This record gives sequence, structure tokens and C-alpha cells, in this order.
Amino acid sequence: MQYDVVVIGSGPGGYVGAIRCAQLGLKTAVIEKYKTFGGTCLNVGCIPSKALLDSSEHFHNAAHTFQTHGINLKDLKVDMPQMIARKNDVVAQNTAGIQYLFKKNKIDSFEGVGSFVDKNTIKITKDGKSETITAKNVIIASGSKPTALPFLPIDKKRIITSTEALNITEVPKQMIVIGGGVIGLELGSVYARLGTKVSVIEFMPSIIGTMDAGLGKELQRVLKKSLGMEFFMGHKVTGATTKGKKVTVTATNAKGEEVSFEADYCIVAVGRTAYTEGLGLENIGIKTEERGNKIPVNDHLETTVPGVYAIGDVVKGAMLAHKAEDEGIYVAERIAGQKPHINYNLIPGVVYTWPEVASVGYTEEQLKEQGVQYKAGSFPFKASGRAKASMDTDGFVKVLADAKTDEILGVHMIGPRAADMIAEAVVAMEFRASAEDIARICHAHPTYTEALKEAAMAATENRAIHI
Ligand code: FAD
Repeated sequence: MQYDVVVIGSGPGGYVGAIRCAQLGLKTAVIEKYKTFGGTCLNVGCIPSKALLDSSEHFHNAAHTFQTHGINLKDLKVDMPQMIARKNDVVAQNTAGIQYLFKKNKIDSFEGVGSFVDKNTIKITKDGKSETITAKNVIIASGSKPTALPFLPIDKKRIITSTEALNITEVPKQMIVIGGGVIGLELGSVYARLGTKVSVIEFMPSIIGTMDAGLGKELQRVLKKSLGMEFFMGHKVTGATTKGKKVTVTATNAKGEEVSFEADYCIVAVGRTAYTEGLGLENIGIKTEERGNKIPVNDHLETTVPGVYAIGDVVKGAMLAHKAEDEGIYVAERIAGQKPHINYNLIPGVVYTWPEVASVGYTEEQLKEQGVQYKAGSFPFKASGRAKASMDTDGFVKVLADAKTDEILGVHMIGPRAADMIAEAVVAMEFRASAEDIARICHAHPTYTEALKEAAMAATENRAIHI
């Protein structure tokens, strides 16, 4: 079969790219090595982790805040197998949705491992049998896998990755999370909310280190206060051993002393590495980068081989589903002869802890480093009427704007529903709004979004009203 486009991988990059190709009239096929579509995001990433975050948040609220609301529950219990079953159902609904969309858009799908024979011929192998298809263009969307530490073998039973952490059918007493990044903190909070004693071991001095420094500081404070999570910063993990149902992790602390931690499970969440195994890149002369194994691409996401593109986690940039999706659309439109554009500075980053953390644009640290003259305005949720009503008063919104032009350069927030609220900042920044623009736009009352308006007012002549 001859296709205009063959996409390898059906994650958010691959499936969205394939649908856009089909919408543009290109004969399209997708190859996926797993039985279900949707890649990491739908099967073992964004969707199942959010399902468990929602379930565990309900439990935590029922156990800790319902009484204050005047709601008394008796015999509150966690039914872990049911929680996991609901999560699996959410995943199944989403992956089935992709199957429906492929059918609707007349996209052919193949189950098996796709590998290059040459730049236009792809071999699909499944259970020892193979077939080949040809394509004018190929989009590699093969994603990523959890990074392993060479001195810390993952046994998938007690020393686990995020994938196994989504399927624990008991509430562990103690859990160690290696890595204070997004994935570690989200999964750590799931279990901490259910009653597990969670200890986060992080090499760097702060958690979520790539985000604006104020966010990590506040998140660490709140997770400690509300969930009893412990943080061991500046600790270099040196190894882990298991004995029966226990795991012991050893580390060197900031003073150079050897320390050890014991728990029922240890989640290794130290990042993700681009996944290129089995693609046969050597057959078309593509060499991956030494650091992170990423496939090198130019500004148009084309590899060194004309007609072969790569998108999502397997290329440079943030490892995020929405970045992969936008790149899928970008490449489809390039192939169809259009001139699309992605603004990489405006890809929002979100941590789905509670409070949620969300960020877009430059951090204060980046602006200082670049010598940009900026002004900052903050507004705390403790001064928000909406936040008081829902008892979600931790956190703040910070707006950074150019000192001369008032153009918004970055927005950083930690607080209730920050994941949804950041969209307003992204839209404003895409249209190059000033802080004054946000300050003068009417925001519904009472909403959490008023905090963004107030932070913008604080950034322009320090005129926030409610603080
Ligand atoms: P993937 O989703 O990894 O998909 C790649 C697909 O390619 C896979 O299905 C794989 O089987 C297939 N494949 C690989 N090689 C071949 C081959 N040779 N032949 C056939 N098929 C092949 N991001 C967010 O934006 N928001 C979140 O809330 C979020 N939460 C996350 C939570 C967790 C626990 C994890 C692990 C990740 C999370 N992410 C989140 C990251 C997000 O999942 C990834 O950024 C996203 O899935 C990348 O999409 P992709 O299309 O590049 O690759």
C-alpha cells in the first residue's frame, strides 16, 4: 500500500498528526506496536495519573475537609482495586475514542513495530511476521520511556517506574519517590492523599527546578503541611536493594554523609528518555543525540532525511502531550504545503498536585539572567473570596511584565485550578497583551481568575484592590 503519510506511534503527537493529515486530504496510516492507541499519555501517563489524582483528592477531602464543611462521614475507606478499575475504565474510554477517530477520518492502522527499510519503506513486524508499506512522508512519533539510573535496577515490583505506580492495588505504608519533578510529585501526592508516608529524595536544592523558583518553594511547603510529605533535598541516590516486601534506598546527603531510607515501594521518577529502539534509524542514516537519545530535527521538525519528520517526546523541547499534539498538527500542515507556526515560548507547563502549579513564558530567574528589566506583581489566594469559600487559600499568582512596555513576559501560579487558569495567560501572551490589559478586563466574581487580574494590577502601579 502506498501512503502520502505514515506515522510511527499513536501517542498525542502521532494520532493528532495523523488526523490532521487526513483532514488535509492526505492518505494516512498509523503504526502502533501496542494493542491500544494513545501512547504514553492515554495509557500510562497524563490520563491515568489524572484519574488517580482525582480519586485520591476526593478521598483526602472526605477525610480532612468535609467535617469543616459540615459533612460527616463514617467508616471512610479506600477501595484500591475499585480506584484502579475506574482508572482503567477512563483509559479504555479514551483509547477507544482514538480508534473511533481513526475510522471516522479513514486512517488505516497497523499493529506492530514499525522500522525503516529505506526512507519511503516501512516494515511492520508483529509476532515474527512482517509486511511492508510505502509512504511519501514519514512522521516518527515514537515517544519516550522512563529514564533508568544505571546503579538502580528497576524490578517493576518494589523498585518501580511511573507505569507500575499506576497499578498498585494496596495503600502502601511508606513510599520513596526519587525525583522531585512533575511525575514524581503527582504520583507521590496520589499516595500521600491516601495515607502513605511519602518521602521525596531530590538531588537539586528545589523541587520542580525548571519552573519559577517561587513555585517550588510554595509547593514544597504546602505538600509538607497538607499531606505530610517529606523532602530530602540535595541528596544523591547511590543505590537501592530489596528484601522481601521492603526496599532500602541509599543516598549521600548535602553534607556528604551516607543515609538510607526504607519503604514498601520506591518510584524512580528522574525523567524520561527518547524512545527509538526498533525504528531502524541506522537504515536511513539518522543518528540520535548522545544526551537523551533525541532525534535531531530542523526548525520545521524535519530530520536530516528529507521527507522524514519527528515530533513529540522523541525530539528536543518539553516532554508534554500538548507540545507533541501541536507538533503533529504543524508537520501535517507543512506536508500539505501550509506555513504553520509554533510559539515554543508559550507552551504552558502544569503540575497536577493540589494546589496545582502552572506556568508560561519566562521565569524571574531567566529574565534576571538575560538582563531584562521587568516588574512583578503577585496576588495570594488567601486574599481571594472564591478561595476562602472553597478553603483553597494556599498559593499565589505572579505576573511578570516588561518594565518599559508592560508586555507580559511570564505568568506563574500555584493555587486552585491553576491548570485551567493558565490558559488565560497563554492567550493574553499570544496576543502580546500588557499587564494593564489583563488588569482592565472584567473577570467574573467570585472566581479564582480574579487572582490573575489582581496580580496584573499589582504589576501595574501596585494597585491590587484586595491586598
Ligand atoms: P508517546 O505518547 O510516548 O507515544 C509514542 C507511541 O509510539 C507509543 O504508543 C509507542 O508504543 C509507539 N511506538 C514507539 N516506537 C514504535 C515503533 N517502532 N513502532 C510502532 N509504534 C511505536 N504530559 C502532559 O502534557 N500533561 C500531563 O499531565 C502529563 N502527565 C504525565 C504523567 C505520566 C505518569 C507520564 C509518564 C507522562 C505524562 N505526560 C504528561 C507526558 C506525556 O505523556 C508525553 O509528553 C506524551 O505522551 C508524548 O507524546 P508522544 O506522541 O511524543 O509519545
